[in-house]
Amino acid sequence: MISTEIITIGDELLIGQVLDTNSKWIAQQLNKVGIDVCYKTTVGDVELDILNAIKLAFSRVSIVLLTGGLGPTKDDITKNTLCKYFDTRLVFDDETLSNVEQVLKNINRNINELTRNQAYVPEGATIIQNKMGTAPITWFEQDGKVLVSMPGVPFEMKWSMQEEVIPRLINFFPTSDSIQHLTFWVKNYSESALAMHLETFERNLPDNIKLAYLPTPGLVRLRLTGKDTDKDILSDSMSSQRKFLFDLLQDNILYEDDEALEYKLHNLFVNNGLTLSLAESCTGGRLASLFTAIPGSSQYFKGGVVCYSNESKINLLGVNKETIEKEGAVSLSVVNQLVDGACKIFNTDCSIAISGIAGPDGGTLEKPVGTVCIAVRYKDQVSSFHFCFSHNRESNILRSCNTAMSLLLEMIS
Ligand code: AMP
Ligand code: MG
Repeated sequence: MISTEIITIGDELLIGQVLDTNSKWIAQQLNKVGIDVCYKTTVGDVELDILNAIKLAFSRVSIVLLTGGLGPTKDDITKNTLCKYFDTRLVFDDETLSNVEQVLKNINRNINELTRNQAYVPEGATIIQNKMGTAPITWFEQDGKVLVSMPGVPFEMKWSMQEEVIPRLINFFPTSDSIQHLTFWVKNYSESALAMHLETFERNLPDNIKLAYLPTPGLVRLRLTGKDTDKDILSDSMSSQRKFLFDLLQDNILYEDDEALEYKLHNLFVNNGLTLSLAESCTGGRLASLFTAIPGSSQYFKGGVVCYSNESKINLLGVNKETIEKEGAVSLSVVNQLVDGACKIFNTDCSIAISGIAGPDGGTLEKPVGTVCIAVRYKDQVSSFHFCFSHNRESNILRSCNTAMSLLLEMIS
């Protein structure tokens, strides 16, 4: 297996100002093509730290991928540092200048002194033009190993990887290894309860197949990853293990594949021409935000009400005042009325209503923090459920969203 180290560069990553999403995305893409990520390192815009990180990476892997530090401003020093490491110098490159001019022209901007400097590139390296930005991608080779420096801006890095770097890496390091993943979303189990239930299964897995637990509030994502030189043998082996898992977990497997719940529902709504509305109390619009973050959600998402007060539940969604007085805002009767109200005002096929006590305050002996009522509606079918989640506000909010989506998914499928 070809081994890789990802080095993300930038002071902003180390002070917690920007989350390193680049290495997560790069690792996902490399995994798909059978390239192993063995190490991830983050360093600041500090010459010595970058030099040390590269030296260490070259001592332990075959591919070193760098992102960041390629901006035209003084704080970005990756390019000069690479010249130092590879004992070379910057030279002016006309092809890079043309690309920089073109990229700037596309966004109606003219080249200036700083952006012109992007056309200085390390002599002897292979320069790959970045069609999304002004910083070129630089490819170095040393003793059969490769180092690629890419821009830090996530969409530029993604373009670079997809269009240029991955195809070139596959070419440079032809491999006979095949890698396969199977993902299962499991409900009704905590991570530890699931691990106990699958203990024997996990112990009996062949050496080339690994099981990973990826818990999210309310669901555990299980991933089986297999590696083998023979693709067909691996496929057979993976499908046997898949069968064992289904025997052990049965209906507790909500669905199979790596898609997050909101995407699963998104596709279901789009493919079946269904529409959705929401009535959210304790989740405060989080569910609406999950759906509307997906491009194309306007095809089915008709709207939602963040009915955080009793008044909004009564006045906007038609909940009976007496029901709230008698049973409380967090009750099955109230979410049943909320789900009907949302369905009616937005005229949708599906609706979700959530009302709960997210915490840390607001709990009572009868209804402690974490009490959440959820109703889901699909056409004329309505189901409502009462849950007792945790004491943590954020976890209660996320768990409410995930649970509500799971319930609707089950109702529709
Ligand atoms: P740079 O190439 O260092 O100028 O980075 C440009 C911008 O890309 C930074 O301001 C960050 O917002 C973003 N960025 C850099 N590295 C990362 C990373 N590892 N993950 C996510 N965003 C990043
Ligand atoms: Mg930077």
